[in-house]
Amino acid sequence: MKKKNVKYNYGECEICNTPMKERLIKQDFWIQGKLIVVEDVPAGVCPKCGEKVVKANVGRSILKLTENPDRIAKAPKISVPKIKFDMKDARV
Ligand SMILES: [Zn+2]
Repeated sequence: MKKKNVKYNYGECEICNTPMKERLIKQDFWIQGKLIVVEDVPAGVCPKCGEKVVKANVGRSILKLTENPDRIAKAPKISVPKIKFDMKDARV
């Protein structure tokens, strides 16, 4: 069952003082060398500079998710591009 979306006032962006808007975002975490993506994370997003803030309780819940081996094992997997940086790419 989906919980009701409770509007939360994220205040203003710390960087550019633009009022934050609530959005569901994807957050990526590297846990022990593995990339984990958590979807539909409620966060305040700055429409101007893209700064994101997550409420403390949401942050704690995400941490629990990423520490739950069962949830991780059962989660659908995605493949991501992996590019090796070469010093040749750094040439201007
Ligand atoms: Zn901003």
